[in-house]
Amino acid sequence: MKLYNTLSRKKEEFKPMDGSDTVRMYSCGPTVYNYAHIGNLRTYVFMDLLRRVLRFEGYNVKGVMNITDVGHLTDDGDNGEDKMEKTAREQKKDPWQIAKYYTEIFMKDFGRLNIGVPEIVCKATDYIGEMIEYVEGLVENGYGYETDDGIYYDISKFKDYGQLSGNTLDDLKAGARIEVNDGKRNPYDFAIWKKAPKEHIMQWPSPWGQGYPGWHIECSTMSRIHLGDVFDIHTGGVDHIPIHHENEIAQSEGLTGKNPAKFWVHGDFMLVDGGKMSKSLGNTYTIDQLIEKGYSPMVFRFFCLNAHYRKKLNFTFDGMDGAKVSYERLCSALLKHKNSPAKTDEVVLEKYKKEFLEDIGDDLNVPSALGILFTMVKEPASKDIYDLALDFDRVFGLSLDKIEDKKSDDIPAEIIEKAEKMQSARAEKNWAVADALRAEIGELGYIVKNTKDGYTIEKK
Ligand code: AMP
Ligand code: ZN
Repeated sequence: MKLYNTLSRKKEEFKPMDGSDTVRMYSCGPTVYNYAHIGNLRTYVFMDLLRRVLRFEGYNVKGVMNITDVGHLTDDGDNGEDKMEKTAREQKKDPWQIAKYYTEIFMKDFGRLNIGVPEIVCKATDYIGEMIEYVEGLVENGYGYETDDGIYYDISKFKDYGQLSGNTLDDLKAGARIEVNDGKRNPYDFAIWKKAPKEHIMQWPSPWGQGYPGWHIECSTMSRIHLGDVFDIHTGGVDHIPIHHENEIAQSEGLTGKNPAKFWVHGDFMLVDGGKMSKSLGNTYTIDQLIEKGYSPMVFRFFCLNAHYRKKLNFTFDGMDGAKVSYERLCSALLKHKNSPAKTDEVVLEKYKKEFLEDIGDDLNVPSALGILFTMVKEPASKDIYDLALDFDRVFGLSLDKIEDKKSDDIPAEIIEKAEKMQSARAEKNWAVADALRAEIGELGYIVKNTKDGYTIEKK
């Protein structure tokens, strides 16, 4: 399969390293200081699609996702306040309670959206000792240095800084903000460990006094512990490219001399009404809010699947209405295949399988693969089509195995069988047989109604 690698800026043939059949993949997880909004969740739907496609291609996946419960500052760089501490102060709770509460809701959203939970989910505060060792290693190797307020990474020591975003050190120098942080050697150096002021609730003893880890060191430490110095894939949202992921690469190069991931894969952003999502605009919707407005989590997942992961996706309620109609149409079209005893020619099925594999293997072209499913369900009713659709749903994750025709819930098999025969007779224009079957069904107390997508059976 082909996958776009942000590092090389091209689609490359993907194979797990060292001829293994297990893909080792690290995904930057949430900072649990607030509810995940639909933009965050789009990124995790993308992570999930990638995991599902890899599995469909026959690989095992060892996925690791972190939960950031300390050290992520409000501006993503070294300025501002720790997001966890800020929320704790605002809500008059302690940061541990905040982390626990939002982590639980985040995991609930994963469940509702059919996002598979990575094999290892690790929270930053469980790895403080290992992070300190990592920072010590960077200091020993000459990449880390101490200032009054923390340990910083000296970017000028890493000549290839900026490979992922294309920002050179010169660009960074030109764009660097004037900061009141005199101890830094270069204005663009970043913190790997912060010294904690007394009032900082989350703090740990370290060789540099009480403190807490920098956000970037968390991912470098946990990915290395669980996946080794170098692993197959690293994912995240595009906003992580210029700071967080550049810094992860710099740290790994400083400690191990290697870029930690073979493939860096990024999901593009979700916009709302064509603009940025922000709390002040009141457009950072949660899954619960969508449910309140009448959109099921599966409709939101379906909405996400209709845009390629490397394209911006504009969220509008009109778009969600469209997604709702299309998803329902797909489900009802599929339903007519569910109980059909008819077969579909193997050649026809193979054609759909082949096209589907081509699409998902082409840098996760899921929107196009969905198009194939839509065409496929228009085939004459057949259980083979239903079974193949469920197989494709191992990638889509749209709960297609759960669709049910409420009306035909308790319709006896004998009636369904007669209705199927009646449909076949109609297709062959054998009206006499069709009418006779309709009459038989009528005598047994049921009525068959023909619809655009097939037929329904109702009790008289
Ligand atoms: P955070 O909890 O802020 O670290 O974000 C969690 C994930 O959501 C990261 O991978 C971000 O890249 C991603 N993210 C944040 N905002 C958006 C958005 N508007 N659209 C898509 N992904 C986003
Ligand atoms: Zn990360």
